[in-house]
Amino acid sequence: MALIADRMKAMGTENAFKIGEDIARAQKRGRDVIRFTLGEPDFDSAPHINQVAIDNILSGNSHYVDPAGLPSFRKAAARHIGLTRGLDVDPDQIVVFPGAKPAIPYTLITYANPGDEVIYPSPGFPIYESIITFLGAKPVPLKLREERGFAFTPQDLDALITPRTKVIILCSPSNPTGGVLTRGDLEAMAAVIKAKCNPEVRVYSDEIYEQITFDGFEHFSIACAPGMRERTVISTGHSKSYAMTGWRIGYAVLPTVEEARLFKQININIVSCVPPFIQEAAREAYENPKTPEVVRNMVAKFKERRDWVVPALGDLPGVTCVKPLGAFYVFPNVAGLTESLGAQEFYRTLPAEKASRTSPSTLLMRFLIYFHGVAVVDRRSFGVIGSEGEHFVRLSIATDLDSLKRGVERIRVAAADLDGFARFTKDEEAVGV
Ligand code: PMP
Repeated sequence: MALIADRMKAMGTENAFKIGEDIARAQKRGRDVIRFTLGEPDFDSAPHINQVAIDNILSGNSHYVDPAGLPSFRKAAARHIGLTRGLDVDPDQIVVFPGAKPAIPYTLITYANPGDEVIYPSPGFPIYESIITFLGAKPVPLKLREERGFAFTPQDLDALITPRTKVIILCSPSNPTGGVLTRGDLEAMAAVIKAKCNPEVRVYSDEIYEQITFDGFEHFSIACAPGMRERTVISTGHSKSYAMTGWRIGYAVLPTVEEARLFKQININIVSCVPPFIQEAAREAYENPKTPEVVRNMVAKFKERRDWVVPALGDLPGVTCVKPLGAFYVFPNVAGLTESLGAQEFYRTLPAEKASRTSPSTLLMRFLIYFHGVAVVDRRSFGVIGSEGEHFVRLSIATDLDSLKRGVERIRVAAADLDGFARFTKDEEAVGV
């Protein structure tokens, strides 16, 4: 009898969290590590938001509440969706969770049977591939191409849709690339979906970075394309826009009240409810007129860093870097760097079993952490299936400019450290396979 149930073998993870273990080991070896790993704003939530949570706790608003979410918060969320997307949403179409992440398993549990095909962006948020695989659905990666600014075309999507397609996951602005899908792209994709998919196919539109866009780009939701409202689950939340990652609040807007009831039922089975004082603070984030300026200031900081880091990375030998229009990540191509360092050659010498658990960009990532004190996230951490031969790393620019400058300098030094890389290849803990 095995201790662990078989299904756990199929569950992936989010390496941005797991890499913390390697960072801790490198630190134990005495290395100072600058982190560009976690996707969270380096700002605290605003005082006017914090105060509402404190007041609510002090006044005893700390009990179980409606598993779908407080009516006060769902009303504010419906209003937000109306103001930002022009959609008329009934608060009963909204279900609130601890963070936006639960909406991914909830959607796939609700709509996808084992064997159903789920299309998802790759590179993309790793939890998509993890949960699709975990639930026995068939992962169908939609490759994002660097040469198109990590967008994809309606033809790319069209080519992947089959009669078994059940859910199509979109994410704009994107983690990990910062790429965006324009209104034109999304309207054309909507036309493809309506032409090729029956009405039971759902689009999961991950819009968690909706407020973090640059250079005048305006976020557009595919739910706003004609005929798509009734096919789309919008997922968003407060983690990124309001720097509320640790608060854990997000929500989904379902096409119908009946579907929202199913999401509520999953909440009842797993989390019961989101703490009411957190929902009241999240409501305040939407309603207090001080909030937009806080968001604008934060986004201006991200833009300033992007404008510094994109050319700085592009200046490194063997690195090219697309300028992102949203989110707070850059996703440089490090193919040349992994080649000149010897990471590709070393990778080719690995036995197949070991090679299947790493990649040249993974080796680069580990070399940077253990030998040069800078932590980035490798391509494989954003979807393994079909990632072979792609050489990228993600840097989160939710890090102050000074750390960014020091970190990029460390990458420059690492890029020339061929002797160090040769020593790395003999260091089992650092190589990690
Ligand atoms: N979707 C994407 C694309 C994300 O990047 C993240 C967070 N990194 C989430 C969902 C989950 O957000 P939350 O922390 O609110 O659960």
